[in-house]
Amino acid sequence: MIGKNREYEILNRMIDDAIEGSFSEDRFDETQLSKLQTKLMRYLTSSSMSERKIMEEKDNLKELITNISHQTKTPLTNIRMYSELLREEAAGIAEKKYAEEIVNQSRKLEELITALVKMSRLETGIFRYDRKKVRYSSIINRVLEQAGPRASEKGMDIIVNIPQDLCICADEKWVAEAVYNVLDNSIKYSSAGSEILIETFSYELFSGIRITDRGIGIEEDEIPLLFGRFYRGRNAGGEDGIGVGLFLTREIVRGNGGYIKAKSKLNEGTTFEICFPNLTAV
Ligand code: ADP
Repeated sequence: MIGKNREYEILNRMIDDAIEGSFSEDRFDETQLSKLQTKLMRYLTSSSMSERKIMEEKDNLKELITNISHQTKTPLTNIRMYSELLREEAAGIAEKKYAEEIVNQSRKLEELITALVKMSRLETGIFRYDRKKVRYSSIINRVLEQAGPRASEKGMDIIVNIPQDLCICADEKWVAEAVYNVLDNSIKYSSAGSEILIETFSYELFSGIRITDRGIGIEEDEIPLLFGRFYRGRNAGGEDGIGVGLFLTREIVRGNGGYIKAKSKLNEGTTFEICFPNLTAV
């Protein structure tokens, strides 16, 4: 019985170490292990090695993307700058049009590289959110500062209905970016002069932000696809975009313990709900 207890104890220790991510075969003397313990040790050794390998590969990928971003920054800025000059100085209508196209495409490329760097930072799992108690109103104020000018340009009203004191535990800067992506889409995919409503809701375990627009809407079968990497909807038409806004939004929201869902009717409008656990439930 004493022998069996000791065997269980060692097995238990191996599993605990593996759960904590500190499993190492050096801590166990193989000559003194039973058959079962030896088998478990081999299994845990190979799985912890493959986990280390995955982490190393993630690190390498992140480094590669960061390098690409650094190396392409200067040439891309130059292409944009010279094509802007060309656009100013072009004599004919056709030349102006081509220069304008180069400006737009180089901006798109810059946007794409910025998005790639963000995606790799968030996805590698090395990144940590700085989660603190924060008011929804404070997040929304940040978002409105950024989105306000674009809404004004399109003559759109953003109606805000948010209590001052409702709080969550989240990384304010990143969650504001997630909410901004949703609001920016609402502005982008709505016609000039229409209204957008931003409000909060609160249930027993979750609270959240709801953004409703009266824009072009999305067909129901497309809703699950919207959060995919580089997905652009059938309705996106000629609107600028690279299809990563909602992907990043979902990553950020999940990374802060929440979830996002959408409801929409083609030609009538769309509602996004971004939900987070209540402070007491965290
Ligand atoms: P992008 O806007 O760059 O295409 P996003 O990832 O932000 O990429 O959005 C993915 C797709 O979801 C868009 O291409 C568009 O088809 C659809 N979409 C997002 N928000 C809205 C909205 N408020 N109204 C209608 N369609 C939307």
